Amino acid sequence: MGLKAIRDGVAAGDFTAREVAEVHNDAVAAAAELNAFIVNTPDHALAAADKVDADRAAGKELGPMAGVPIGMKDLFATKGVQSAAASHILEGFKPPYESTVSQKLWDAGAGMLGKLNMDQFAMGSSNETSYFGNVASPWKRQGSNATLTPGGSSGGSSAAVAARLCPAATGTDTGGSIRQPAAITGITGIKPTYGRCSRWGIVAFASSLDQAGPMARSVEDCAIMLGAMAGFDPKDSTSIDAPVPDWAGLLDADLAGKTVGIPREYRVDGMDAEIEASWEEGKQWLRDAGAKVVDVSLPHTKYALPAYYIIAPAEASSNLARYDGVRYGLRDLPEGAGLQDMYAATRSAGFGDEVKRRILIGTYVLSAGFYDAYYTQAQKVRTLVQKDFMDAFEQCDVILAPTTPTAAFALGEKTDDPLSMYLNDVFSVPASLAGLPAMSVPATLNSDGLPLGLQLVGKPMDEQGVLNAGLAIEQRAGFTAQPEKWW
Ligand code: GLN
Repeated sequence: MGLKAIRDGVAAGDFTAREVAEVHNDAVAAAAELNAFIVNTPDHALAAADKVDADRAAGKELGPMAGVPIGMKDLFATKGVQSAAASHILEGFKPPYESTVSQKLWDAGAGMLGKLNMDQFAMGSSNETSYFGNVASPWKRQGSNATLTPGGSSGGSSAAVAARLCPAATGTDTGGSIRQPAAITGITGIKPTYGRCSRWGIVAFASSLDQAGPMARSVEDCAIMLGAMAGFDPKDSTSIDAPVPDWAGLLDADLAGKTVGIPREYRVDGMDAEIEASWEEGKQWLRDAGAKVVDVSLPHTKYALPAYYIIAPAEASSNLARYDGVRYGLRDLPEGAGLQDMYAATRSAGFGDEVKRRILIGTYVLSAGFYDAYYTQAQKVRTLVQKDFMDAFEQCDVILAPTTPTAAFALGEKTDDPLSMYLNDVFSVPASLAGLPAMSVPATLNSDGLPLGLQLVGKPMDEQGVLNAGLAIEQRAGFTAQPEKWW
């Protein structure tokens, strides 16, 4: 069952929240082979459920997520529960506080099944950089037993939702980490406008890009959950002080009077023919929903990915300086070592290869002599990418593009080739640089039987426009495929 069906069923008394929590705790326990969870928290889910059942019995008003057990990405600080960002350096770190977003979800009546695996510090596109081992996608290519990636960095979230271990999960998206894993596992995920969800208590990767968002199996479920996650937070200086609309209540798939833009520059050379065909189909679905479809131009698209892979590592190198063996998690203090030796030993042992690569790149582009050539230049490019979108939104209300350049790839296929891994983010990174709301909705299966997603990008603060266009696609795509259970 999806999020809304569970919530409404609990409210109607068709079943108890405890029954729902038990069924999902069992599903999580039985799916250890997927490695989607790093820590299971069955008691958290049960306690939240019991509270909802008691509130219902007492006739109290129930929250918008009442009785819904969810998975929590390991990037969120959860009080008393290991929050390691899937790293060794934070292994064993149990925060004495709760992130704003997770607290809001508990206040809305949700419970936690466990902490979801992810790429270490959210750096990656395949979930293979996790210190706790890769996640296996529940999907397989037809006629092949190869284990596929569930995408990344929110790969535990996408696998768990696609495998029906939970109706919904939190994700975070810095350059595509909600949309890309959602697309390749056949689920729905939305990254809201930068500043909609508080970043307080979310382990920082690249602070000017990081946003939290929901991953679920329908547009409506995403709208409900995003409503519970979003809102102004004085503890995050980049949080937007604006009311949270009733996105779920205002969902409307009638796109009459709306214009959809198709960015010319996203038609890259050598594009997968099936991705291109699904994009064409998406256009027709939006026309059928009443929208006008026009070509638009985002001329600086080809510079977005290189700019992202300067800005994100630069911010990461600064954010990750705090993990020094003094304050959190791991400490490696060799016999007779001084402070510098402790820093070096702790960081050498505590960070994985991809994290070290980003710290090195980030430190390099911020160093004297290279700062202007790389970092300042990338910031200028970022402004041009933002301006491209603003110019395009003079002609359209929402943009339609593929979410990823390919369907899911096999584990190991790109691990020795960071550049080809980074290229996976080519369609998701521009909206991140521009801070825009963007969503992936499942469109179809390819000839290997693997899901493909379509991406919608909206104007700043127009999550509603994105969700509405997403709903129009969802209704026409009729995507009901599920992975065959093998775990
Ligand atoms: N795959 C991208 C990266 O590795 C995006 C990650 C993210 O959005 N957290 O940086």
